[in-house]
Amino acid sequence: MNDTIIIGTGHNALVAAFYLAKGGRKPLVLERRAVVGGCAITEEFAPGFKSATLAHAFGPLRPSIVRDMHLERRGVQFVRPDPRLAAIAPDGRALLFSTDPRRTADAIRQFSSKDADRYPEFCDTLVRLGEFIGELLEMIPPSIDAPSASELWELVKTGRRFRGLGKRDAFNLLRWGPMAVADLVGEWFETDLLQASIAARGIFGTFMGPWSAGTSAVLLLGAASDPLPGGSSVTAIGGPGAVTRAMAEAAREAGAEIRTSADVTRILVKDGTVSGVRLADGTELAAPLVVSGVDPRRTYLDLVDPMDLEPGFITRIRNYRVPGTVGKINVALRGLPAFRGVGADAARLRGRIHIGPSIDYLERAYDASKYGEISEFPYLDIAFPSVVDPSLAPAGKHVMSIHMQYAPYRLRDGLSWAGRRDALADTVMRTLEEYAPGVTGLVEHRQIITPLDLETNYGLTGGHIFHGELSLDQLFTMRPTLGWGQYQSPVTNLFLCGSGTHPGHGLTGGSGQNAAREILRRL
Ligand SMILES: Cc1cc2nc3c(=O)[nH]c(=O)nc-3n(C[C@H](O)[C@H](O)[C@H](O)COP(=O)(O)OP(=O)(O)OC[C@H]3O[C@@H](n4cnc5c(N)ncnc54)[C@H](O)[C@@H]3O)c2cc1C
Repeated sequence: MNDTIIIGTGHNALVAAFYLAKGGRKPLVLERRAVVGGCAITEEFAPGFKSATLAHAFGPLRPSIVRDMHLERRGVQFVRPDPRLAAIAPDGRALLFSTDPRRTADAIRQFSSKDADRYPEFCDTLVRLGEFIGELLEMIPPSIDAPSASELWELVKTGRRFRGLGKRDAFNLLRWGPMAVADLVGEWFETDLLQASIAARGIFGTFMGPWSAGTSAVLLLGAASDPLPGGSSVTAIGGPGAVTRAMAEAAREAGAEIRTSADVTRILVKDGTVSGVRLADGTELAAPLVVSGVDPRRTYLDLVDPMDLEPGFITRIRNYRVPGTVGKINVALRGLPAFRGVGADAARLRGRIHIGPSIDYLERAYDASKYGEISEFPYLDIAFPSVVDPSLAPAGKHVMSIHMQYAPYRLRDGLSWAGRRDALADTVMRTLEEYAPGVTGLVEHRQIITPLDLETNYGLTGGHIFHGELSLDQLFTMRPTLGWGQYQSPVTNLFLCGSGTHPGHGLTGGSGQNAAREILRRL
């Protein structure tokens, strides 16, 4: 008999299901799609070609999750490519970010010896700040109006750790958080390509450009999971789907039941307390505890009856911003394209490829989206899952996974995304052609995913890949909204565990792990 219902099988929900089952609950996990994994899936999109349909790199996952769920013993082979990032310049040069900062510094030297000398210090600073922020991300955000004794104690400990950072780092942290990432990288480096490839981490997945305030905070959030400036390129043999399949197996083994093709249409509430869920086919399933791994807007505005929530709370959730800006193109290729400065060298294409050569380029790409237009020269983050795992494509062929920004969910003048998918992919390929001449001639098939598709097919409200903007007003105690940052909700025994809760931000499993801990504590 299940005593807990979890909605969705995103990686956060699977992590929460695992820990709740370990904590003695009997979760029933309900997924509307036919496959588990949410945004972390590997699917065949053309005969013989499989790609990371949506996300192509992990945050990476918290090591404690990998360990507790025995993911590697279950057969998951994580791959940590080195170089992790290749940034391509229009003049034919490339900058390879290695896992060894000294090697990256050597690569930077061809652009600027001043930047090369400063790079190791920048890495060291991110390592120290990342460690401090990492501890904040593990915390359950404290209550603002009535902090408990243990919350106050945690805050005292955080204050001590902050002082332990030393004056210079503490000052940097306070100053950098609200800063535009363009200013931050501009203070450290002079090379356009280096500035832009580091700054990209501050805008990835957001409706912000490098000159937007608070983008340094996004960079620092990323640094908490992986401090190296190029960002994480961690993937797995079999793509991200291999990892979430193993997570589902771990959750099942711990005692959870998982049902796919089970679309929850209503969270049932009786006298202010959750009582179960209703599925699209009308089936009602009772449970005294419901945990939603779905984004906050969908949970509160679609799944809970508005009569069960205070109007003031509904207004606050309506004000929670989910402005999607990401398009995703998966391409089946006859062969590996040759990138300027890198060639078609598989060893150098194992990590991610960055297209966006300067801060101005990235900001212009963002500018278009402010007015509801698709960037004419978009910022691209590319991976070749078939280079890491050749079994994902027919022999000699390849799959290319392209994350593009900016493709605004809301197009100008009420224009619709219908009929614009090819234009989106054509823009991406035209841009790419400048950095990998001849790539278009290698294309056999394209899977085009618009921000509207992200909402309709993958359940991401507004097409937002992080279940809500990573802006300073929507982080920590304010994620999703002030007063409700502890995974709880105004409905008794209804909790949230997805990316729209602290810490949010990508494939780390942090929200699911924190949520399970807090739910078990409260119960
Ligand atoms: C195109 C794209 C690229 C990305 N790239 C990266 C990247 O490179 N690195 C990174 O770290 N992160 C990346 N992300 C972000 C990351 O994938 C997400 O933030 C993360 O997967 C969110 O996980 P989650 O478990 O919180 O929710 P999700 O993965 O969104 O899972 C939610 C689940 O709930 C299900 N669901 C929704 N409604 C219902 C319902 N009514 N009933 C039942 N089930 C329901 C959905 O089908 C889905 O399976 C990317 C995301 C996208 C979309």
